[in-house]
Amino acid sequence: PVPSAASLLDGLDPDQRAAAAVPSGPLLIIAGPGTGKTRTLTHRIAHLVTERGVPASQCLAITFTRRAAAEMAERLEALVGPQARDLTVATFHSLGVRILREQHARVGLTARFGIADETVVQELRDEHGDMYKKELRARDLVDFDDLVEMPVELLAGDTSLIEHYRARWPWVSVDEYQDVDETQYRLLRLLCPAPTLDPASGSSADGGLTVIGDPDQAIYRFRGADVGFFLRFQEDFPGATQVQLGRNYRSGKHILAGAVQAITPTTLVEDRSLQPCGSHTEHALIGLHHAIDEQAEASFVSRTIDQLLGGSSFHSLDSGRVAGDGTQGLSFNDFAVLYRTSSQARAVMEALTRAGVPFQKRSHDRLTDRPGVRALARELGLVGLHGSVVERVRQAAKAVDDEDAFTALELLMPLATRHGDDLAGFLSELALGAEVDTWDPRADRVSLLTLHASKGLEFPVVFLVGCEDGLLPMRWPGEQPDPEAVNEERRLFFVGMTRAQQHLYLSHASTRLRNGAVRTAAPSPFLADISPTVTERIGEAVPKKRKPKQESLF
Ligand code: ATP
Ligand code: MG
Repeated sequence: PVPSAASLLDGLDPDQRAAAAVPSGPLLIIAGPGTGKTRTLTHRIAHLVTERGVPASQCLAITFTRRAAAEMAERLEALVGPQARDLTVATFHSLGVRILREQHARVGLTARFGIADETVVQELRDEHGDMYKKELRARDLVDFDDLVEMPVELLAGDTSLIEHYRARWPWVSVDEYQDVDETQYRLLRLLCPAPTLDPASGSSADGGLTVIGDPDQAIYRFRGADVGFFLRFQEDFPGATQVQLGRNYRSGKHILAGAVQAITPTTLVEDRSLQPCGSHTEHALIGLHHAIDEQAEASFVSRTIDQLLGGSSFHSLDSGRVAGDGTQGLSFNDFAVLYRTSSQARAVMEALTRAGVPFQKRSHDRLTDRPGVRALARELGLVGLHGSVVERVRQAAKAVDDEDAFTALELLMPLATRHGDDLAGFLSELALGAEVDTWDPRADRVSLLTLHASKGLEFPVVFLVGCEDGLLPMRWPGEQPDPEAVNEERRLFFVGMTRAQQHLYLSHASTRLRNGAVRTAAPSPFLADISPTVTERIGEAVPKKRKPKQESLF
């Protein structure tokens, strides 16, 4: 049964409720990690649909990753029921695909246009130089960047089309707005008019853009994102309602205090205070561990998981007592190991394997990079069969002369199953970079993921490994990063710390195997900003015969 509107807003605190209930017009929700931004956004959309009578088809919600979009769609379905099917929950790229499919004739594509992956684009570039776009079009293909750029050009040159889409989605919301890039921003500006006051009624038209984010979690600058768009929202949409949320429901108080201390030196937020409001009954200090090398660090991780699961009482709390009830009932999927680069996962996986701890690593390999998948998908563009995608994939596999066809078939089946009869949808998702993703948040395994991939997620126990100068901030030997890049690394560190609910462990190693050589490493300078009052040292590094050159903080 669909919950009543009252119960929908009941699940929010007063500030969140005020934000969710803003009647109309542009709305900016600026708030730190764990303050319920995503929750407020989903409740706001659900409230509009179930309580305000806004047709679900008029709501467009944009998030940054396919996974986040899928999660939001799932949450919305739980809140609004079957009407959720009419909501549009998209990433910028999937939104672009949708607009281009609808308007294909205007840009000289067929309705079945394909999305060229990087290799195809590179081949065409090598062959045709910067003329290559023509070649793409001649083959009825677009590239990844085209997916947002082309809709922007199309809309910018056609007012009636702008009106068409504005009428279709008067209600637009964007989560993680701090990571918007210029083209995405331009698309939003086209889709969402700045309000003009209607002189007759004195109120602006119904609808509006809601953006939600945290400038201190902007971590995609290297990909062209610009937090400046977030910061100037008030100028772009004069009179926008602004709501701040200050209660953090996720993390224990020491974790939260440490995270705020870590971000404070370069915070982009005027008032970066966060009140711990979670249901925590006990507040663990942040565990600091100094290991000899990456293998010892990995053993620390597996040992600690074992201890927390076994209930061995080793972890002292600020009250002087020892972890008891607070950590009971943990299971493997309550643990996450976060790292800056995926090459760091190796040592951790080895240690967990040795300890018999089940884990899952979030893979970032694209399906199309796996042998056979490309050939099979190419074949798939040619099969004229009707019916389910699964059946068509099977048929296509028969035609693929490739010993890899079997593996490809296996890899593609979950995606094919999800798409029913929608071959175009299946092919675009594949081209949009669908990953070999077996990561399942419900599986009872320890999660291993990069800091970037951890955005928006939360775990009762988080290990942030490799807190070393050179990894956090990331620096290649001999490279002098610019200060902005270092600030972004600090934000990444902040994102990582704030994933933790009950326990956070920050570890660093004196030496580490990196790019084939053993290198000494100093602790991350970010650690020095965390007050000793919220941390405790856990485990001692076994003294080494030869002392590492660097001074250690611990
Ligand atoms: P991030 O910046 O990391 O994306 P966020 O601001 O989007 O964080 P959410 O993920 O929406 O935060 O919420 C964090 C946690 O707090 C979730 O477990 C959520 O269910 C819980 N939470 C949020 N608001 C409330 C509330 N009013 N009462 C109880 N729990 C809440
Ligand atoms: Mg969120």
